[in-house]
Amino acid sequence: MDRGFFNVPKAVNEPVKSYAPGSPEREEVLATYKQMFSSNVDIPMYINGEEVRTENTRNITPPHDHKHVVGQYHLAEKSNVDTAIATALEAREAWSRLSWMERASIFLKAAELLAGPYRAKMNAATMIAQSKNLHQAEIDAACELIDFFRFNVQYMTDIFKDQPDSAPGIWNRVEYRPLEGFVYAITPFNFTAIAGNLPASAAMMGNVVVWKPSDHQIYSAKVIVDLLKEAGLPDGVINVVYGDPVMITDTVLASPDFSGLHFTGSTFVFKELWKQIGVNIHNYKTYPRIVGETGGKDFIWAHNSAYPLQVATAITRGAFEFQGQKCSAASRAYIPASIWEEVRTHLAKQVAEIKMGSPEDPSNFVTAVIHEGSFDKIAKYIDNVADSNDAEIIMGGNYDKSKGYFIEPTVILTTNPLYETMTTELFGPVITIYVYEDKDWEASLKLVDESTEYGLTGAIFSTDRYIIQKASEALENAAGNFYINDKPTGAVVGQQPFGGARASGTNDKAGSAQNLLRWASVRLIKETFVTPQDYKYPFLG
Ligand code: NAD
Repeated sequence: MDRGFFNVPKAVNEPVKSYAPGSPEREEVLATYKQMFSSNVDIPMYINGEEVRTENTRNITPPHDHKHVVGQYHLAEKSNVDTAIATALEAREAWSRLSWMERASIFLKAAELLAGPYRAKMNAATMIAQSKNLHQAEIDAACELIDFFRFNVQYMTDIFKDQPDSAPGIWNRVEYRPLEGFVYAITPFNFTAIAGNLPASAAMMGNVVVWKPSDHQIYSAKVIVDLLKEAGLPDGVINVVYGDPVMITDTVLASPDFSGLHFTGSTFVFKELWKQIGVNIHNYKTYPRIVGETGGKDFIWAHNSAYPLQVATAITRGAFEFQGQKCSAASRAYIPASIWEEVRTHLAKQVAEIKMGSPEDPSNFVTAVIHEGSFDKIAKYIDNVADSNDAEIIMGGNYDKSKGYFIEPTVILTTNPLYETMTTELFGPVITIYVYEDKDWEASLKLVDESTEYGLTGAIFSTDRYIIQKASEALENAAGNFYINDKPTGAVVGQQPFGGARASGTNDKAGSAQNLLRWASVRLIKETFVTPQDYKYPFLG
């Protein structure tokens, strides 16, 4: 029933609440945290809208208090994955034909529910099971996911409005069809918003989805499922399975109806998935769309015209917020010798002030890293420094996993621009600094550009426009999100579409029309009003 050209509400960014002491939002989220932390939640898979439980479960334990159990989730058997695929394909029949306005309404409603009654629950789940502090949970689990829902509705309609011209006597139309088959969404632990957006953006465009969240984000994934259900998402549109990623993926990628991968996670995993899709290519009914946002080794580069305090502050926020577990986190910095001592003094003061502990205490800036594997990996790189001749730890460097996976914000100083922590993604609260001679600033830009395989985010600091232009040009391909005089993290939907190239991903920019377009397959319709009846063209006669 299309009886009008409807405008969708203009998308605006959800305001970030302050959670200042005494504010009602602070009281509400801390009370919700307490209640959820002391309960036990049983999290089923969701297939065709039904709760699916198996004999095989795994505990959910907060990274900052890993002996404490807050619940358990159920692991998929192969048969569950088969059912999820079959169910999605059945649901496709109705979902792909549902008017886009009805689909849009579901996600607009989800945005409002999350802005209101679901906000505290979503933030608390993210604080408990992903160890985000209050502010980090708010900007991710609440605001960014709300923004994804709202802005994607607007982008979807922008896409639909893009129509071809028509010559006299004909009418050309472009239809943005969902992909023929189903989309497989694989999501990482570190952003609740990404976990929600990867299945939801494909679904918004009329696709059906099998979604495999990270084992370390299941609690907030459950809240996302509850939210979408309450918003009216029909059964079978997004089917959620947990467990062995290899078994689940082998099963999904073996289906001839697999038509798209929406992935965010590490580079190695994504490359392996791409390879597997290539091996299976003859089995698929359609060429699958492959969208992946992956790892980074994000930089801060400063020129001697930069203000040292601004550089230090960008390092502290860029490297240590959410324990450095953002794909965009600054993890290598290049500082000119003439301002280094001043940057170091400011940085040391800031790092010394940082409090570390449970996210339940809002004064903690840093909490625990996500799991033991990550803790051990980061600790090993910290230990290696002691054995090296070209690096030293100048701040932090202690760690302790007795209660939670806590690693102090750590600054390594190196004389080797290719030292292992200058080139490897650690995904923890560690930044390595290389100090260059001021006169070598151009050569240092080449180092920034060529030292790693990644191209995700990066920041330059300078007050000199000639230098800013030069550095922007020299680093043209070093970052998909490039920041001038700001930290390289904190992209906002609708303002800084996010993604990188090189080994950092396909750069399809989450939170933009470009990304949504990947989940549509265009059908061009040409209608001719007075159809020719004589095959002879005039020139023949
Ligand atoms: P990860 O690669 O370990 O896991 C991501 C997802 O892939 C999870 O659901 C996991 O279960 C699944 N997975 C793991 N092995 C698999 C396999 N063999 N087959 C199929 N699926 C598999 O990443 P993570 O630790 O959850 O997240 C951190 C990584 O994600 C970092 O590298 C970070 O840079 C990246 N990341 C990138 C962006 C971006 O936008 N570029 C955003 C967030 C995170």
